Amino acid sequence: ATPMAIMVGTGLGAMNGILFKNASALEDATKLNVVIFDKTGTLTMGHPEVVGLAIAVGATEEQLLSAAAAVEAGSDHPLAQAILRRAANVKAPKTTGFGNIEGKGAQAEINGKIVLLGNKLLMSENNIDLGELGAKSEELQGAGRTVVHLAVDRKLVGLIAIADAVRPTAVEAVKSLRARGVEVAMLTGDNQGTAERIAQSIGIDRVFANVLPGDKAGKVKELQSQGKKVGMVGDGVNDAPALTQADVGFAIGAGTDVAMESADIVLMKSDPFDVVGAIELSHATLRKMH
Ligand code: ADP
Ligand code: MG
Repeated sequence: ATPMAIMVGTGLGAMNGILFKNASALEDATKLNVVIFDKTGTLTMGHPEVVGLAIAVGATEEQLLSAAAAVEAGSDHPLAQAILRRAANVKAPKTTGFGNIEGKGAQAEINGKIVLLGNKLLMSENNIDLGELGAKSEELQGAGRTVVHLAVDRKLVGLIAIADAVRPTAVEAVKSLRARGVEVAMLTGDNQGTAERIAQSIGIDRVFANVLPGDKAGKVKELQSQGKKVGMVGDGVNDAPALTQADVGFAIGAGTDVAMESADIVLMKSDPFDVVGAIELSHATLRKMH
């Protein structure tokens, strides 16, 4: 690679909000066989909103929201922010013993009662029967909602359905990558049903769901061990190891500092289509070098 071509290439990128942090990314981006997108905050806007509640028989909306808000007050997860906004008008009780349950939810104690809040897996691991709300939970997940379940002393109180809008250029980005012969996959800590529904709406048929934060880099490695050059696009702290592991890591500009530090390319406009832009620019730059 001639220094001149690299300078022109990275300069053009920068003018378009695509920051190449190293010259080798410009070459590696032309070799990618597969690009893995994180779901939340990368393919979606990362601004989840509560769109519905379901209350168990014998419980009330107030019980659900006050307990959920009390637990989420201790969490910095984006889903916690959505729940706290929805519960702004209810008085949340004091909690003790808050704890994150990585990739699944959170827990705390209220008046000596154990409150568990999180995904379906967390409920089944704690033998919590979803009862009449089991079907509702499945239905909501099938519609692409993230469902937060809340149980007090192992009894289900209700469900909180959360939606996060897909970024407008996600569909076009996936289509263009495939047209270039690049495979596309989605990686998320969210459950299978929700992930599949959202992937389908974007045109992605390969989904890795229920992946714990510590296992994201392992998924990248797995594809690399099949001889593939892997691009990873992410925004979160929990994407950082996967961004480092990937042959080319792309960070969403609106994401966390850790993601941007771990990436080779930063997409300043937070536009998934800029992954295509980065690859095209790389090809154009390499052509000029021959
Ligand atoms: P992602 O950001 O890819 O969804 P996470 O590992 O952060 O991945 O979370 C995985 C899943 O665990 C979430 O989809 C949610 O169902 C559940 N979860 C994690 N933290 C919380 C929380 N604080 N409140 C509610 N649910 C949570
Ligand atoms: Mg994310």
